[in-house]
Amino acid sequence: MSFTTKEPFASTLLAKYENLPRGHYIGLVLLRTTQSETIFRTEGSGEPLSREVTISGTKTGQPIDRIVISKRKQTAVERRTGRELLRDFEVYAGDNKECLLNTQNPCGKCPDCYLYGYAVGSGGAQRSRVMTEDAFSLLDAAEVTSERTFNALFDNSTMRNPKTGEPSTSLGSSEYVRPGTHFLDIETLKDVTAAEFIYAMGNILQSSRYGAIGTRIGVVKNQILGIAVGKQEIFSTLELTQATYDLLESKQHPLVTETVAETAVRAAASLIGKVFGWRGHWISGNDLTPILADVAESYQNPAKLVADLQACYEKS
Ligand SMILES: [Zn+2]
Repeated sequence: MSFTTKEPFASTLLAKYENLPRGHYIGLVLLRTTQSETIFRTEGSGEPLSREVTISGTKTGQPIDRIVISKRKQTAVERRTGRELLRDFEVYAGDNKECLLNTQNPCGKCPDCYLYGYAVGSGGAQRSRVMTEDAFSLLDAAEVTSERTFNALFDNSTMRNPKTGEPSTSLGSSEYVRPGTHFLDIETLKDVTAAEFIYAMGNILQSSRYGAIGTRIGVVKNQILGIAVGKQEIFSTLELTQATYDLLESKQHPLVTETVAETAVRAAASLIGKVFGWRGHWISGNDLTPILADVAESYQNPAKLVADLQACYEKS
């Protein structure tokens, strides 16, 4: 039997999409670990990496620079992952016009539009029910970044002058996030159905390229460390990052991912006890295993998952 029919999910997940907010929240606590060099910038190339000065921990407090993955960049990647599945199962075929991200022309009726939201100038909008925050690097930017110089490329994208064949002598430099860098993050789902919940988790777990994309850069592995089910939002991404930093024994890159995961789960369990009025459920460790197995199983039958998603929006 699917975990979605058992408590605490049964009373939290909606049977169908509803227009009015119900205040049912699911917080997904995530660990994102870079697997290659990555570049997270606010704007285009040439810009430095996005960073923000924050206090290192909640108890140990000196200001440090942290690398930031902007919330918009994360959901854009995960939406694209989901839309590939939808397109594969012909959600956009037939009467449904093609629905394109970042255009003025969203369809307003596909699972992506319903779940992640859309707005069109001519009226018609859906608030996103996937709420995200900027993610911060656990460690100081000085620990997790490096810079490399390279020979600047010519118009033909090679290092040889297309006319003279001479090698390039002008040097460029580019700053990157080192492989094995950890970012903690929280995605909050509000008033979602069982199929939407599974779809949102699947999109996170299947997305593997973030930031500036290249054939050798941008690889990120996502892990779900814990799920908070309740009637309110939990702590913030920054609070979790700082509380985890406090508990870490070593603050030097590289850190063992398993150690970071265990430490973050301890930090989350302690923070959730301090959320005002909290009376929800926090699921982590072994309790999470059957849930993730169920999600994986749903993706063994993606046609059914897509059909279940579309059924959420049918008028009864
Ligand atoms: Zn759409």
